[in-house]
Amino acid sequence: MRESAEKDVYEDIRSRIDRLPEKDKADEKQYALRLERCKECENLLSGVCMKCGCYVEFRAAFKRQRCPLPSSDKKW
Ligand code: SF4
Repeated sequence: MRESAEKDVYEDIRSRIDRLPEKDKADEKQYALRLERCKECENLLSGVCMKCGCYVEFRAAFKRQRCPLPSSDKKW
């Protein structure tokens, strides 16, 4: 049941990302790099950033979004 719920969440995220206007989307390279940094971050828990409460796969898809840490610690 839980796996199925998680799958639904990620399908919903993918679908929302697909519907974003291209001008607002991070390019693929930038997106992959952001997620790599999140994967190594101690603030990531089950796909959610504990600093902002966002699913990082969604937050990282926006060109203008930034890692929410203070400027000196920002990871992307
Ligand atoms: S957005 Fe920043 S603080 Fe949040 S998990 Fe990713 S790297 Fe860590």
